[in-house]
Parts: sequence; C-alpha cells; structure tokens
Amino acid sequence: MANLINGKEISLRVRGEVKAETADFIQKTGTVPGLAVILVGDDPASKIYVGNKKKACLEVGFNSFEHILPAETSQADLIGLIEKLNADPSVHGILCQLPLPKHIDERAVIGAISPKKDVDAFHPANVGKIMIGDYDFLPCTPAGVMELIRSAGISVAGKKCVVVGRSNIVGKPMAMLLLHENGTVTICHSKTKDLAAECREADILVAAVGKPKLITADMVKEGAVVIDVGMNRDENGKLCGDVDFSAVSEKAGFITPVPGGVGPMTIAMLMKNTLTAAKLAKNY
Ligand code: NDP
Repeated sequence: MANLINGKEISLRVRGEVKAETADFIQKTGTVPGLAVILVGDDPASKIYVGNKKKACLEVGFNSFEHILPAETSQADLIGLIEKLNADPSVHGILCQLPLPKHIDERAVIGAISPKKDVDAFHPANVGKIMIGDYDFLPCTPAGVMELIRSAGISVAGKKCVVVGRSNIVGKPMAMLLLHENGTVTICHSKTKDLAAECREADILVAAVGKPKLITADMVKEGAVVIDVGMNRDENGKLCGDVDFSAVSEKAGFITPVPGGVGPMTIAMLMKNTLTAAKLAKNY
C-alpha cells in the first residue's frame, strides 16, 4: 500500500510559514503584502477559487483586493484595470482568474500584467526566466507538486520522471522544474503513441490531463511516486483526479489523493509568491 502524500497537511505548514514571515515583513517594512484577484464573469467554479484565495490572503495577513467584473467587460477595460493595478503600490501580486470569456484574448491579458506582480508566473518574461533557471516566481501548481515531493523526502535527481500533459500552466513548467532538480524527464500528451509503456518507465509519474482514471494500475511501476494534478468530476459528480486511486495505491510507493493532494498546495504557493513579490517591491 502506497504512502499517502498529504497535501492538506503540507499546505497548512507552508501557509503557516508564510504567515510567520509576513508578520515579520510587516513589522520591519510597515508594508502589508496585497494580492489583487480579477474575475470576469460568474463561472461558479472560478467564484469558489477566487473566494478561497481571498480567505487564504486574509489568513496569512495580506490585503486582498477583489475585482469582480461582468462577463461582457471589454478587453480594453480589463487591460485598463490591470494597468491601474500595475501602478498601485499597495498591490504586489495580480492574478486574473482563467478561463476568460471567449471575446477576450488571454495572452494579451497575461502580457499586460507587470512581470514583477505576475504571481501566477504566466507572463512570457517569467516563463523565459523559468526556462533558464533564474526566476522570482514559479507557477503555483507545479511549484506545489515540487514541495509535495520534497516534503515526502523524495529526491528527483537521476530519477525517470514522466509528466502526462503539456499545458503552459501545468505540464510544461512541471517538466522544467523536474529537469532543474536533475530528473530525466519525458513529456506525454494526446499524440503519445504508447502512453502506458511510457508511464511504466516512471519512477515519478505526474498526471496533469483532466481525464478521470486515465492512469490505471497496469501503467504504474511498482513503488513509483504518483502525483495526481487532475481535478475532475466522476459520474456521480464527486471530485476525482486523473489516477485510478484505489488500484494504483496498491502498487505505488507514494501517491497524492484528490481532493487533499495537489489542490491545496496551489493556493499555498500563491501566498508564497505574493510575499516574494512584496519583498521584491521593497528590495527586502
Ligand atoms: P489542459 O486541458 O490545458 O491540458 C491537458 C493535457 O493533457 C494536454 O497537453 C493534452 O494533450 C493532454 N492529454 C489529453 N488527453 C490525453 C490522453 N488521452 N493521453 C495523454 N495526454 C492527454 O489542462 P491543464 O493542464 O490546465 O489541467 C490538467 C488537469 O489539472 C485538469 O484536470 C485541471 O483541472 C487540473 N488542474 C489542477 C490544478 C490544481 O490546483 N490541482 C491547477 C490546474 C489544473 P495535447 O496537448 O496533445 O492536447
């Protein structure tokens, strides 16, 4: 039976560390870190994410600035708001909740956020910095996965790592972070010829696809570390990952559950990035 990597517990520890560091930062600089979150439209899942981010901000001692805009907001108005927030010294981090309504170009919006306030690390300047291993911020979900791996006492160096999924938000930066830690990394996607064979090679397998139970026990090497980034709804509407948890946990050495694995880490790393942005702004 696999060891469970408890993301809820680890995320609480990270949030506790951020809270303590924030108190110290405020005391020394008189500056309260501030995170602005923009939501366009009223997608119910996005509303929950934004609410959770606000709660986390207040808990660690940040200011939280929420901007809820109607779905029909124009791209020009949204970028106008971002420019105001870029210039506002009380705002250290800016996050625009994705996805955006179809009439808005996500790339233009991400590109409008000042790279110094880009706490999601989606701006091309920050993506480039991550490629060369010289960065201020790491994207929250892959950074959260790395923290889970570290916290479980697992070393990545020399291990065969397989990342399933190649999105700009999760899969690609995930592969890069594993590479920075000296893993030997393979990236799989929908055109991969024999996904099961690729996955069976993995000492560390990260699933970031968005398909319930795509990763079955026969695709996992005995004793492997299995990290499930997926957030899906099963046939009963229950939250589940990309991994067939009950069968794979019989075979894996370590496994993350869904919920309670990668999900809570994403917000914890967002708090960490916001504190980093505030420190950078104050040359702290
Ligand atoms: P995307 O839809 O952007 O990317 C999915 C990737 O999976 C693509 O690269 C796609 O390949 C690949 N893929 C699709 N089908 C297969 C298949 N049958 N075999 C192999 N690869 C396949 O999703 P995201 O990266 O944004 O998110 C992935 C999952 O992670 C989702 O469930 C999402 O909800 C979750 N998520 C969870 C977060 C958290 O905090 N826990 C945060 C962010 C995301 P191709 O490129 O060829 O199309």
